[in-house]
Amino acid sequence: MATSGDPPIKRYRRDKQASEESDSESSGPYVPYVSVRDRRKQQLARLGHLEKATQSASVSANVGAPGTEPTLETKSSSDNDHDDEGSQEDWGRRFNVSLLDQHTELKRMAEAKKVSAAERQRREEQKILESVAERTALMGVAELAKGIQYEEPIKTSWKPPRCVLAQPESRNERIRQNLRILVEGESVPPPLKTFNHMKFPKGIMNGLVEKGISNPTPIQMQGIPTVLSGRDMIGIAFTGSGKTLVFVLPIVMFCLEQETMLPFIKNEGPYGLVICPSRELAKQTFDIVQHYTQHLKKCGLVEIRSCLAIGGVPVSECMEIVQKGVHIMVATPGRLMDMLDKKMVRLDVCRYLCMDEADRMIDMGFEEDVRTIFSYFRGQRQTLLFSATMPKKIQNFARSALVKPVTINVGRAGAASLNVRQEVEAVRAEARTVHLLRCLQKTQPPVLIFAERKQDVDAIHEYLLLKGVEAVAIHGGKDQEERSRSVEAFRSGQKDVLVATDVASKGLDFADVQHVINYDMPGDVENYVHRIGRTGRAPGRRGTATTLVSRATDESVLRDLAHLLREAKQKVPDFLLELINETEDYSAPVEDTDSQGCSYCGGLGHRITDCPKLEAVQSKQASNIGRRDYLSNTAADY
Ligand code: AMP
Repeated sequence: MATSGDPPIKRYRRDKQASEESDSESSGPYVPYVSVRDRRKQQLARLGHLEKATQSASVSANVGAPGTEPTLETKSSSDNDHDDEGSQEDWGRRFNVSLLDQHTELKRMAEAKKVSAAERQRREEQKILESVAERTALMGVAELAKGIQYEEPIKTSWKPPRCVLAQPESRNERIRQNLRILVEGESVPPPLKTFNHMKFPKGIMNGLVEKGISNPTPIQMQGIPTVLSGRDMIGIAFTGSGKTLVFVLPIVMFCLEQETMLPFIKNEGPYGLVICPSRELAKQTFDIVQHYTQHLKKCGLVEIRSCLAIGGVPVSECMEIVQKGVHIMVATPGRLMDMLDKKMVRLDVCRYLCMDEADRMIDMGFEEDVRTIFSYFRGQRQTLLFSATMPKKIQNFARSALVKPVTINVGRAGAASLNVRQEVEAVRAEARTVHLLRCLQKTQPPVLIFAERKQDVDAIHEYLLLKGVEAVAIHGGKDQEERSRSVEAFRSGQKDVLVATDVASKGLDFADVQHVINYDMPGDVENYVHRIGRTGRAPGRRGTATTLVSRATDESVLRDLAHLLREAKQKVPDFLLELINETEDYSAPVEDTDSQGCSYCGGLGHRITDCPKLEAVQSKQASNIGRRDYLSNTAADY
């Protein structure tokens, strides 16, 4: 008992264990040695006690409901906030649940986590896509201002043959399935398996025979009837699939009908307009148009006049035709804008618009030009968009310009042509030029060599000339005359090798290119698809593509490349396999979305959340500094 003079005695209760420990500590200098293994065992046993204690507490909490067992669900829901490791440790310490049950439950929890991760990814992607999606529709200014919206497709006089119309829709479906043609849209016209069924006049049939074309390719079987029926269309097909004829033949037919009904007077037209992203592609398309119109004339039908409006060619050449009254104009955006601006040409009667390599055009910054061009149209037009690659962002954007469009997809959008054997070689950056000579031994000429930068094109060209190789070169820095001369020399077979920047990679059709060599891997995999599509063109032809990569090559684009190779059933070199093995498989669609890979650029090795191209575009917008050749060109360059 405390006396009044004594200091107050502090009263506290020590827990038994602690007091025992301190007692043992204070009991004397002797501390028995316990090995690390035993100490760990003791610690685990102690933790086990604690765990059991909490479990029995939760059991008693559940006792409220008579007969309730402590279920795994109760445990897992209480663990929801823990991170993975924590919950796994807890599971490891639960002695009263069988290992099998623990395993099943852990698996269930992991699944639930995966789904929510996919959902999170989907939401994030959606947000990014929305932020980069073009807000303004691809329509004329007047239409936007007046709020004009066309509801129904243009009517044409063309109908599929009766024998085809009489067939059930299931037959059309079967044909599409066999040919791997995917279609989307309302009342899609039936696919037609012969040119005869397309009802082309003799002149066109003669033109086809002269080119050695006897049967339509899948994109032509479905595309030509769609266009002839007046439908707007998005055509997605691998390069070399024959998509040019899908828009060229119907446009010639429509113009033939118009001219026969009411001949074009001076300064009238064009009735049909084809816009291409590069001068070379425009020239090539123009030549195809002329081939068929000349055959029509030879067969005694009316004259269809066409003109070429591209930079680097005197405007007077084009104006001569325009003044006579022009049916078809093939143009690049820069020159066309200039002519429209100066009122040299009008689009008042233009009812047919085709944008070839449409995604490239929008990607390359011609979007504003395209929108301005749309503003010159008066009245409804039939709009066709064609490309080998069509990422979702562009498809959504393009749909704003189309009326009840039919989307025709032959093969995955952005997939590489299956006719091309693709090889990837790792070579030191400094050794690449010399290595090119070895690559050139792989096949017979003609060979195309691509490089990103103009300086590299010049250096390779010079080196090959020094080594006695018959080579020519083109890039945006050369004048048009030289570009045309080089392309013609290569096309006609006078030169064996063409060295080029991506100016030559889109849509150009050089007969029988045996080999495409990529001196460097392009900045995005879409460009790679376009580049290698210059070989193995036309049904039944095979080609080879060799791509040189080095340490400097961007890892993300290499990953996209690896997925693309795997998709095309090509040999994937070990160094690329390693890259894809250590990352997630992005080529599978994310739950709830139908998009494979990146919805911005179409690459299979990443998603939009880490798209290098989007990042580059954004930083370019910020700094306005272009690295690649085609990006640094202005519209006038094309
Ligand atoms: P494109 O994809 O339109 O650039 O065409 C690629 C190449 O295929 C060109 O050389 C065409 O002449 C050729 N071609 C187009 N259609 C056919 C066809 N139906 N049969 C055989 N070759 C074709």
